[in-house]
Amino acid sequence: MAKLINGKEVSSAVKKKVGDEVLLLKQKGIIPGLAVVLVGDDPASRIYVNNKKKACEQVGIYSVEYTLPAATTQNELINLIEKLNCDSKINGILVQLPLPAHIDEKAVIEAISPLKDVDAFNAVNVGRIMQGDYRFLPCTPAGIMELLDYENIDVAGKNCVIIGRSNIVGKPMAMLMLHRDATVTVCHSKTKNLAEICSRADILVAAVGKPRFVTADMVKDGAVVIDVGINRDKDGKLCGDVAFDEVEPKVSYITPVPGGVGPMTIAVLMKNTITAAKLQNN
Ligand code: NAD
Repeated sequence: MAKLINGKEVSSAVKKKVGDEVLLLKQKGIIPGLAVVLVGDDPASRIYVNNKKKACEQVGIYSVEYTLPAATTQNELINLIEKLNCDSKINGILVQLPLPAHIDEKAVIEAISPLKDVDAFNAVNVGRIMQGDYRFLPCTPAGIMELLDYENIDVAGKNCVIIGRSNIVGKPMAMLMLHRDATVTVCHSKTKNLAEICSRADILVAAVGKPRFVTADMVKDGAVVIDVGINRDKDGKLCGDVAFDEVEPKVSYITPVPGGVGPMTIAVLMKNTITAAKLQNN
């Protein structure tokens, strides 16, 4: 039976540290502030935004939400970002993705000041991640590294396989593991022999966005399995990318969904907001 990696527990520990740092900053007259921008009324995005605001309250970060109608133009959104770039009460700007189809996400991300880009999606911060010299950690991959560290799972020299090559999860995950001396393979929708590649992984990260995609035959005995997916199955139940029931008995560690990677993403966002406040206040 696998050990469950408890993202709620680890994220609470990270948030506790962030809360302590917020107190220290407040003693110096610095109140870290996060602006969360939501365009449209996607129900999943609404839940994510609410969770982020709740986490800010828990750790003492000042947060402001901007909810804009789905018909907001790209210029209107970029104007708001430019205003927030100049607002000294705001240290971090988070634009909840996805944006409506008529808005170019890349243009919006690039409009965020690199010093306030707490998601680390801006080209400047992505470049720094490539170089291993980062100010802001990419939230989900950094949260996964925190989970592995908490369980004393060393990635150095391990065969790490990541399914998914998105800019948000797969690519930065590969970089963080590479910087820690893992041997990394990134798989995607055009990968041949996926099951065979996965079944050689010491650490398997699934970021596909397909319910129960990773089955027991794709996983090595005793592997560590990190499930990034947040999906709804055909009955509307929340589930990950891993067929938990059949994979769990075979592996040494596994993250549950919910309660695994998800809470860590938000905890790292809180950490990044503190980093932003420090950077902007020298
Ligand atoms: P994405 O849709 O941008 O990327 C999915 C990736 O999966 C792509 O690179 C694609 O090539 C790959 N893929 C698709 N079909 C495949 C197949 N048959 N075989 C191999 N690879 C295949 O998704 P994303 O933004 O990286 O998110 C992935 C999942 O993680 C989603 O369920 C998302 O909701 C979730 N997510 C969770 C968190 C969190 O905090 N837990 C954060 C971000 C994303």
